[in-house]
Amino acid sequence: MELTSNPNNNMSSGKRDILNLSPEELKEEMTVMGEKPFHAGQITRWLYKGTTSFQEMSDLSGSLQSKLDSRFVIGTLQQLKRLVSSDHQAIKYLYLLLDDNIIECVVLKYHHGVTLCLSTQVGCAMGCRFCASTRGGLVRNLTAGEMVAQVLSVQRDHGLGDIGGLVLMGCGEPLNNYADVLKFIRQIHDPGGFDMGYRNITLSTCGLVPQMRRLAEEGLSINLAVSLHAPSDVLRRKIMKVANAYTIQEVVDAGRYYYEKTGRRVTFEYTLIDGLNDRPEHARELAALLDGFPCHINLIPLNENGEDGLRRSSERSVRRFETELEHAGKNVTRRRELGLDIQGACGQLKAAYLERKQDGLRRSDHGIRGIQSPGNSQGNQ
Ligand code: SF4
Repeated sequence: MELTSNPNNNMSSGKRDILNLSPEELKEEMTVMGEKPFHAGQITRWLYKGTTSFQEMSDLSGSLQSKLDSRFVIGTLQQLKRLVSSDHQAIKYLYLLLDDNIIECVVLKYHHGVTLCLSTQVGCAMGCRFCASTRGGLVRNLTAGEMVAQVLSVQRDHGLGDIGGLVLMGCGEPLNNYADVLKFIRQIHDPGGFDMGYRNITLSTCGLVPQMRRLAEEGLSINLAVSLHAPSDVLRRKIMKVANAYTIQEVVDAGRYYYEKTGRRVTFEYTLIDGLNDRPEHARELAALLDGFPCHINLIPLNENGEDGLRRSSERSVRRFETELEHAGKNVTRRRELGLDIQGACGQLKAAYLERKQDGLRRSDHGIRGIQSPGNSQGNQ
């Protein structure tokens, strides 16, 4: 598939996004600019404090500030929407990119701290039936800098010095944007910058087997979450297109390989869909599939978005499924659901926003009031 070009790689101003540079690349840039490499560390510290202007970098000389200004921009995201769930445990952001594409990210407040769920692509090519993010297919990959900008934008807005974890579980398949996602993870881990521990980062994949195996070789101790959503190939193919490319056994084997190489526990995500994959026999089949694998199973009752008429499993079915897995000795939890009232699942808020925008445009064509202006959307909508 041909993707639209990424504006951050070659901005119309001719300036590049400095957030796209790794610490090593920034040092090299200093040398190219005739400056000492140690300035890279100073600049990185400012950037990860959330500074949006080179002029604010007060320990740099005026001439270096000007040189930076003539070559780079500091990538920022324009906040279109900010929705807070009624229980104040989730905040969802819609951000506008430089090329007018829109992405989502979500702050989730758990008892153990604040986790930020990021997007890695605009749209998604993977075509999972239950997911709103994939409706328009893949538009383009996000750059590492745009992923960093999500972290810094949320931090700026929220005043969070306490983002304790990152999950790459928003819009997009992270392993389908392998190079930039890996670059982002290394950048955000850099002790001179954000200093996020690898163990506090979770990457979620729908099961791209070759990339899972490659990730295992990278020497990163990040957590891996694998979307399984079915215990067999026949059933998985009904809800996930990727199941036509890789068998479920190949996916589980790649997860096992990741665990063996990294020592990090692998979580298998299982969305429960009424009447489709939520029966006790499915639970027993899943337990057998994962037999002897010290992994974790995370159950997620479907967050309905009207796709294909799929329905959320009943409370009784969820409990029964969980009990079957427990009886089989599996390590299983049910995902705590935050932000349901703010369209917390991947892609839902963006889809609703675009539908409302279209609707607003149609109405304004007829002289009726259009959509709300961006940035005024505190609270539940
Ligand atoms: S669930 Fe993830 S991989 Fe599947 S379509 Fe949605 S964003 Fe893509």
